[in-house]
Amino acid sequence: MHRHVKPAAPRSTFHYHPHLTARKCDSEGNYIPSTSPPPPRDNSEDWTPFADRPSFEFAELVFEKMETSAGDLDRLLKIYAAKTLLDGGGDRLFDNHDDLYATIDAIQHGDVPWKTFRVSYRGPVTADSPSWQTEPFVIHARDAYAVAKQMIGNPDFDGKWDYRPFEEYTGPENRRWCNLMSGQWAMSKADEIACDPQTHGAMFVAPVLGADKTVVSVQTGHSEFHPLYMSLGNIHGDVRRAHRDAVIPLAFLAIPKAPREHEDEEQFRRFCKQLYHTSIAKIMSPLKSAMTTPEVMRCPDGHFRRVIFQLGPFIADYPEQVYLAGIVSGWCPKCLARPSELDAIGEPRFRQHTEQLKNAYRDQPGHLWDTWGVVDDVTPFTDQFPRADIHEMITPDILHQLVKGTFKDHLVSWVEVYIYAHNEPKEAKAIMDDIDRRIAVVPGFPGLRRFPEGRNFKQWTGNDSKALMKVFLPAIVGYVPDQMVQCIAALLDFSYLARRSAHESSTLTAMTKALERFHATRVIFEMTGVRSDFALPRQHSLVHYVQNIQRFGSLNGLCSSITESKHIRAVKRPWRRSSKYKALDQMLRTNSRLLKLANARIEFGRRGMLKGDVLHYVSKQLGVDGLDEEDENEGDDAFDAIDIHGNADVVQSITELPRRQAYVSSLQSLARELGQPDLQDIIRRFLWDQLYHGDDIAGDQAPIDACPPFSGSIRVYRTATSTFYAPSELAGPGGMHREIIRSVASWYDGYQRRDTVLIQTGDDGDRMGGMLVGRIQVFLSFVHDDERYPCTLVDWLIPCGNRPDPVTGMWKVSPDGTRGLIHLSSVVRACHLIGVYGETRIPRDFRFAYALDSFDCFYLNRYTDYHAHETIAST
Ligand SMILES: [Zn+2]
Repeated sequence: MHRHVKPAAPRSTFHYHPHLTARKCDSEGNYIPSTSPPPPRDNSEDWTPFADRPSFEFAELVFEKMETSAGDLDRLLKIYAAKTLLDGGGDRLFDNHDDLYATIDAIQHGDVPWKTFRVSYRGPVTADSPSWQTEPFVIHARDAYAVAKQMIGNPDFDGKWDYRPFEEYTGPENRRWCNLMSGQWAMSKADEIACDPQTHGAMFVAPVLGADKTVVSVQTGHSEFHPLYMSLGNIHGDVRRAHRDAVIPLAFLAIPKAPREHEDEEQFRRFCKQLYHTSIAKIMSPLKSAMTTPEVMRCPDGHFRRVIFQLGPFIADYPEQVYLAGIVSGWCPKCLARPSELDAIGEPRFRQHTEQLKNAYRDQPGHLWDTWGVVDDVTPFTDQFPRADIHEMITPDILHQLVKGTFKDHLVSWVEVYIYAHNEPKEAKAIMDDIDRRIAVVPGFPGLRRFPEGRNFKQWTGNDSKALMKVFLPAIVGYVPDQMVQCIAALLDFSYLARRSAHESSTLTAMTKALERFHATRVIFEMTGVRSDFALPRQHSLVHYVQNIQRFGSLNGLCSSITESKHIRAVKRPWRRSSKYKALDQMLRTNSRLLKLANARIEFGRRGMLKGDVLHYVSKQLGVDGLDEEDENEGDDAFDAIDIHGNADVVQSITELPRRQAYVSSLQSLARELGQPDLQDIIRRFLWDQLYHGDDIAGDQAPIDACPPFSGSIRVYRTATSTFYAPSELAGPGGMHREIIRSVASWYDGYQRRDTVLIQTGDDGDRMGGMLVGRIQVFLSFVHDDERYPCTLVDWLIPCGNRPDPVTGMWKVSPDGTRGLIHLSSVVRACHLIGVYGETRIPRDFRFAYALDSFDCFYLNRYTDYHAHETIAST
């Protein structure tokens, strides 16, 4: 195995909170020695309420994955019963769909049922009052205490759970921020809690809330839902993003409606806010007493601990933040910067100050509103809980503030406004069309979403905006002032840094600098008349990012893209399978069943009852031989082989050939096929470099007769896989990310596809981080002296100049017409090139598959993903 290895970062030191030490205790709360084993759990094989494993897996498959309708389910069960009858009888799987649903409902593992409560308007009501004043609002919620207890006891989170707030240092002055418990907020809250000696030894647990309205649409209309989700801050951020049980739907909030003519009335709007806060306070109230008096709970590692709760960060988009913080729309929920002064950070808002303001200006609500941006009679729900400060708890929201807000709604639109304002209408339209075509013809890349129609689509999703970020910059070069391109590049750099899963002082400094560059270059939109000011709350929020990373750790684990992705499972799919009439009740039942199935899977898994494949499991139990278990892990050995947690060298990436070659060729016929008559010499010089590495003479200078002889056969491959450590992506196990690199003469649509890769040829400090770009002509391997050499023959692209292009900040590379055979261990990963378009407009019939053959010069794209941004040098 050939690895591209970098020396490990120095070992971290950890300073844990001195009082909230998460000591182990027994189920009564008496502390026990730290070396005690966890109390035994029931590990017997018990499939209750299912008859056996096939019944459980069948129920899970048809209900959760396939979402089979009741009618289809009955038919399926009938067919199965008939087959069993033919084969001589036996038990049915389930009688019918009712039987299957009833069995799921009977699952007892971690059952947290949905309950309802009602909230009504309390003011004076007359016969003419609108319905929102006369009818109660129904809120559906699970018991927050029970949900928290269940999550804390989930053995799946063992190893992905922080038991104590801590500070991590990689050097004397160099702090590292990663998960929530590594931030200042957890430490300082733990300090406040520890003022009470009875909490010493307890485990600090921070419920994280997220709320986000969502609309489901059908042709006949649409329905709106307002789910509130809960997670726990102790769960690692990447697990919160990826694990289906790390964020649980806790409640569906009421959405009051008023007749359109009353919608904007202040009285109605105020009621909506009060209803919102009253509801959340009531939903969270079961946790309140455990915020001052610890409660004994079982933890992911099976031990009991005394748990003390503290309301944690709240994930929400800007309109919801306005609601939450009780501020006037247009103001910042975290600081007092006035709407006209949103360029800079203002004095911080905090709970006591807001309360003082409300007391001082009780008789002047207008003054509170105009001068402080505070709504007088909305009391945040957090005021009912100890130590909770809503201004502090509101977290940055990368998805709405950076991706959808600043990038797409602001910058992308402003560019369009600029182009229309500074060109004749016909020319402006032609330019916009060309920008669309430039975007449409970028070369393919793993995970890159294509824009065959350019960017002209109606329904923009967050993922569309993220995809546009990857390809937008080169498309506008030449059509807008350079400073506009630089401004967008600065914002992209800021965004990609903000998405890192771990930060150190250096990345926070880089973020601060990128933001300064963004503010400095942004004025071009004023100078060109596109904007008269930048009083934009979403853009303002960026000034709080660095501080909030220091408080809460990486923002990845707290982004509203987490709650948005949960909508699919909690709202959208359950809604689709409902009858649409009084849908919420049916959706809650579906949610309940999904949670029960998930908890049953966790419990059965913990007991070791779900090992291997179901058929193998049953045949082994019956003592039947001859059924080989399929090797589910085939091809995954690279994941297993990489020890990313070890303290030895950190593996950055591995590029490997597949197990089977496409074909085997003789040296002569491969040389003919590649149009490379000197292939034999190339291989011999390659072997010189491999065998005499460090010799004064390089292979290409060595006399050919002195090079090792070679005439054997050659294995040829169409693909290679590159596996690298990229925890900021939604990655595989242990933060590993895998991509396939291709070199094929005829891809799906008949065009050749020759991917480009980054190749490490020098040191980090060299030009472009010591890397070059190669375009793969072929992957091959051959044997010399009993050693197999995996290689690739590449066309070289070399950097133009000694630094990146000053406008886009990206390196430009050009093919220099030479080829080289390199060892696969030098391949770092795939990379994405985008043509430098210059003055020429893209012809209408131009295909993206031609792009790599058609331009003289390319941008080396830093924005394909966060790992590329991290890997490709910016200086
Ligand atoms: Zn602010």
